Amino acid sequence: MPAQKVNAFEIAKALKGVQRIAIFGHVLPDSDCYGSVFGMKAALAKAGKEVFVYLDARIPYNLEFFKNFDNLENCPYFQNADIALVFDASALDRVENLEILKDYKDNGVPVFVIDHHISGGISDFADFIWQDSDKSSASEMAFDILKVAGFSIDKGAATFFLAGIEGDTGGFQHQNTTRESLEAAGYLISKGARYRLIADNLLNPQNGLNILRLYGLVLERLIYNKKYQTVTSYLTLEDAKKFGVEGDSYSGVANLLNVIDGAKAIIFISEREDGILKVSLRTRDKNVDVQKLASYVGGGGHVKASGFTLRGKIVIEDGQPKIV
Ligand code: AMP
Ligand code: MN
Ligand code: MN
Repeated sequence: MPAQKVNAFEIAKALKGVQRIAIFGHVLPDSDCYGSVFGMKAALAKAGKEVFVYLDARIPYNLEFFKNFDNLENCPYFQNADIALVFDASALDRVENLEILKDYKDNGVPVFVIDHHISGGISDFADFIWQDSDKSSASEMAFDILKVAGFSIDKGAATFFLAGIEGDTGGFQHQNTTRESLEAAGYLISKGARYRLIADNLLNPQNGLNILRLYGLVLERLIYNKKYQTVTSYLTLEDAKKFGVEGDSYSGVANLLNVIDGAKAIIFISEREDGILKVSLRTRDKNVDVQKLASYVGGGGHVKASGFTLRGKIVIEDGQPKIV
């Protein structure tokens, strides 16, 4: 049975009535995922609740500053919680620690999903869902919930939420930058959110010099497909190793490429461990929906920015890249 649709007020009401709260996010967490999960944790803890976070603490280099605001500890076990929240995940296979979330559900704990993607089917699993693809980020939604609940937002929570909003809007540049997201940012800064710290860190990935060298490779390898008007580039595991850069650090490359006039879609492919390819799709063309495209192959995201993964690796044959 699909989940019951709820709004910020109903989630706020549910949170007020409970004491023990489990919080989940998505695999390969980004700033919005950490931001919504740990911002919510900070505010709920301050309101006297007990909070268990199930997010892997393997934090990417450019988000290490989050450690100034939380120990980022991951709860490894099922706890007796009253309610489970899942942030920023639109499909069940995107949930990190899914087995533990299933344990909660099997034990009758209601699962609430709060997400800003176009649904990837998680509503079939959730009990309650607030999904709004007009929102900039899950962090903005978490902030909305706390605001209507009247819970206080301290400097740490404000910094987490602002980092999530900044990350998902690409520093307030993508199409999802709205009046509401800018107003939320202003409010969070008034609560002490560390705007400069966030901007400096988000845009300052591990080993800047080598990241620029990798960008050079990506630009050198651009392939323009005349028929489909797509632009493709890629990075292999070997490239990443050669430059000593982790995969998480160059996830911004797809956005970097999304400036080419006349390109209907940007396709950026990067090799990850274990024979997995991560594909990022971007478009600025008003008639192109890359979310739909990604959803055909088991991925998802947003109309203008989406992604999917597939098994395979990149090999070069006669100077041409091929996926095998
Ligand atoms: P990325 O290219 O990783 O920056 O992702 C762009 C958008 O697509 C983000 O909103 C992601 O949540 C979403 N996305 C990326 N990979 C997947 C996937 N495998 N399944 C569903 N959504 C994805
Ligand atoms: Mn995310
Ligand atoms: Mn997000």
